[in-house]
Amino acid sequence: MQIKPLKMRWASGGVNYSYLLAKLTPPSMSATNWIIDPAEPEEIRSQLSAGEFQSITTIVNTHHHYDHAGGNLEFASLLKERKTPEFIIGSKKSATLSSSNIVLPEDGETFDLGDKITVEAIRTPCHTQDSVCYLVHDADSPNEYGIFTGDTLFTAGCGRFFEGTGDQMYKSLSHIIERTEGIWDKVKVYPGHEYTKSNVKFVRSKVWKTIGENPAFDKLEEITNKTEVLTGMFTLKDELDFNPFLKLNDPYVRRAVGDAQNLLSESEVMSKLRSLKDSF
Ligand SMILES: [Zn+2]
Repeated sequence: MQIKPLKMRWASGGVNYSYLLAKLTPPSMSATNWIIDPAEPEEIRSQLSAGEFQSITTIVNTHHHYDHAGGNLEFASLLKERKTPEFIIGSKKSATLSSSNIVLPEDGETFDLGDKITVEAIRTPCHTQDSVCYLVHDADSPNEYGIFTGDTLFTAGCGRFFEGTGDQMYKSLSHIIERTEGIWDKVKVYPGHEYTKSNVKFVRSKVWKTIGENPAFDKLEEITNKTEVLTGMFTLKDELDFNPFLKLNDPYVRRAVGDAQNLLSESEVMSKLRSLKDSF
């Protein structure tokens, strides 16, 4: 299984990622291959080989925002050069050719991409109500999993609550964690933006302020200082260790939101932590 991160909108500060999800090395690809959130078709095309580009059969969106779904029409028209008809998985709010060829997956719905690759949709409403994460597995390599988290889960962070509440984000992140129980250390995380550096800055300033308070976070900070592209480097287990939005009962997280007494619910801690980040 090949997951190729494609940078988009880095020059303008968007620091978005699109991803090619493919099975075989070109030119012998035979699976249904996905392009996830191709918001800037020309930028993406320039990062793909002709074989990779021609292998794409399906456009997939994590949610309807323009910097994820805004390239659907243009990308689909580029794909028309192929014989296979284009097909879009995502929200009906996303830019699409017609309402007939877009499907918002049900929670738990699975897609068989062929060549033993399967993808499970995990609905995670909050950032938008149509946010979907995609958990991918290659049965040829039992330890190989990935999850495309869009703007729901970032490395050491989570998305803004544009259409939801802290309670909803708490439930959505918990849903991801419950769905992947037993394989946390095998699931690599592929978020929709490279926000790690700014997330780490926030967490160091507000949560684990001193080296030694959270060794996993210290290690993340060290790596972040040296590396620009961090997508796919960390697993859900890593996130459970260093992402404060997944550690709502950690004493340092509680202290950061003014709840050293442990009186607030997880949903309330989530809301307060995200507010702190919003004003950081
Ligand atoms: Zn978004």
